[in-house]
Amino acid sequence: MAERALEYLKDFVAIPSVNPMGRSDISEEIVGEAAYAGHLQAELGRLGIDAALVGSPDRPSVVAEIRRSVPGLETVLVASHLDTVPVDGMEIPPFDPRLESGKLYGRGSCDTKAGMAALVAALERVLGRGELARNLILVGEADEELGSQGVRDVLNALGERRPDWVLATEPTEMKVACSHKGVVHVRMEARGHAVHASNPAEGKNAIVLLSRAAIALDELAQRLAGRVDPQLGPATLSIGVMNGGHAPNVVPDRAFLVADRRLLPGETLASARAELEAALVDARVADDVEIVSCALEKPTLSTPTEHPAAQACVRALECLGRPGECSSVAFGTDAGVFEAAGLPGVVMGPGSILRAHTAREYVEVAQVEAMTDFFVQLLSTP
Ligand SMILES: [Zn+2]
Repeated sequence: MAERALEYLKDFVAIPSVNPMGRSDISEEIVGEAAYAGHLQAELGRLGIDAALVGSPDRPSVVAEIRRSVPGLETVLVASHLDTVPVDGMEIPPFDPRLESGKLYGRGSCDTKAGMAALVAALERVLGRGELARNLILVGEADEELGSQGVRDVLNALGERRPDWVLATEPTEMKVACSHKGVVHVRMEARGHAVHASNPAEGKNAIVLLSRAAIALDELAQRLAGRVDPQLGPATLSIGVMNGGHAPNVVPDRAFLVADRRLLPGETLASARAELEAALVDARVADDVEIVSCALEKPTLSTPTEHPAAQACVRALECLGRPGECSSVAFGTDAGVFEAAGLPGVVMGPGSILRAHTAREYVEVAQVEAMTDFFVQLLSTP
């Protein structure tokens, strides 16, 4: 069985499914989830499972419902995103999976094709010897790394057929994560007035205006550092991109910045935006610096540790002799998007987030085996 998970994983890694992340400079041959989704659909078909592709044809998600006609059976939705981050600067062949010293290298090996490989291998084993003890909605969603369009497409396709809870596979080193921060991305633009640099007093320098805004954001960030969740740590604000101007001899009329704001449970997009607007007013640049977009990339996850989702995962781990504590993760996931849609859940999967998105991404084979055993346990016991 462990060998099956590894075989699936190698096949999955060999199929590029890069999220374009809004860029247009990535080869079309490696962009999009269609090839991986089609492969998955065929593999599930081989196991006698009908899987549907939903969403747009070039960015599809996979949905397969394996339900029994037993009343009162719990339904769990396992979501393992299909997309990976791009491959710029990778120091290993991204789509030529290599096994070395118990590690499987390649883009997506850890984040999060290992989760899907473990799920399909476990499903194959459990169905091979009987029936599932829970109804399963298997989801491979597109676009987790950017906008979570895949989750919206999947929820649309499911309509009223909703699960009791959700497990999103992400690299947590097999820990059950019940909470994480939310992620907001904000873009601000400064509008100035361009004149010749020999006569700057006649113009209005957008870079200087934006710099005042940036300092105000940094002061807000320092205040946020005092707002601490016992599990998740502080709320944060970080400026990631700042740019503007045309030439040394032109007073710039345009400059922009992009910042990343991490929300704690209880904070909202609206409350975060109001704080940003207040910071611009305090810095006296509110008339010249505009928030042009402020979007919730990933909502917070805040599942109580006593919730059935967490408890079912803890029990399955403990049955396998593994520690079953609940924890939190530092990154946003699609579990937060499901929670915002009214579906509670947890995050759990093989491998370490420290290996995800890296130039030498890998997952330990032992972790893939452990996740496969976990899914077998989860799917074969009520
Ligand atoms: Zn991921």
